[in-house]
Amino acid sequence: MELIINNLSKTYSNGIRALDTIFLEIPTGMFGLLGPNGAGKSTLMRTLATLQEADSGAITLGDLDLLKQKNEIRQVLGYLPQQFGLYPKISAEVLLNHLAVLKGITNKNERKELVAALLHKTNLYDVRNLNLSGFSGGMKQRFGIAQALINNPKLLIVDEPTAGLDPLERNRFYNVLSELGENTVVILSTHIVDDVKELCTNMAIINQGQVLLKGEPLKLIDELYGKVYKKTITKHELEDYKQNYQVISETLFLGKPIIHILSEVDPRNGFSPIAADLEDVYFSQILSNTHPKVII
Ligand code: ADP
Repeated sequence: MELIINNLSKTYSNGIRALDTIFLEIPTGMFGLLGPNGAGKSTLMRTLATLQEADSGAITLGDLDLLKQKNEIRQVLGYLPQQFGLYPKISAEVLLNHLAVLKGITNKNERKELVAALLHKTNLYDVRNLNLSGFSGGMKQRFGIAQALINNPKLLIVDEPTAGLDPLERNRFYNVLSELGENTVVILSTHIVDDVKELCTNMAIINQGQVLLKGEPLKLIDELYGKVYKKTITKHELEDYKQNYQVISETLFLGKPIIHILSEVDPRNGFSPIAADLEDVYFSQILSNTHPKVII
């Protein structure tokens, strides 16, 4: 089963072109869709979830035409939206049971087993009787995954799931996602590089509605081999360095900026070569897309 997005475009009525001829072939397994806020991720996710129309282009999931056979797609779709409401005054188990009824699982015993299995899978079994109002952000997101898995989806769409989670909750969430079946196409949209680094075998970086780069994270990192250098500088030097080098990231360490630059040749001048990571891949794409600079 493969999801193929072919030349998908969408312009909102305010003139914003949120998707610009997107072409992606997404196999089963975890696929990371990485991009900054406003890149077009949610527009693409909502279109894939059959909640929004595109202007042009096509999407197929296996033999199904996603844009035309919406009912068939919904049978095999799981969706965890960026924001979702929960009934606060009932327990996780009761709500999951109720949602399973709505999704057409009418046999009581079958439903009971399914609900228990999903609560186990998302590590919520021990808190199944707790009212959802008492759930932390991470627990709510795991509940969101449990409900998205009710119909054993072939396509699972997870939109910005780790935003607002603390590191421990994020890790728990990663563990749940990493155990999802290899027979499912899972699309994880995020602006957090670590989400992709931890989980995804394939990825794409999008910005301003366009795909900038796609491939396997490790291969994309390899392509930067020997091209990333770092240097610790002082704060007042930062602007100068930005003028003269292709600075792809700046972080503070003990109050001092450490910059990473992209360079085809050894820049000398106190820079040392480093092994690139996925953040370097991401920022080199986003920055060169946002403010084109000459590589020195
Ligand atoms: P992301 O999920 O990557 O943050 P979105 O898909 O939400 O990106 O947004 C892409 C662009 O489309 C942004 O510039 C956003 O302001 C715009 N946009 C999103 N939804 C709408 C809408 N309903 N009407 C008009 N513009 C929108």
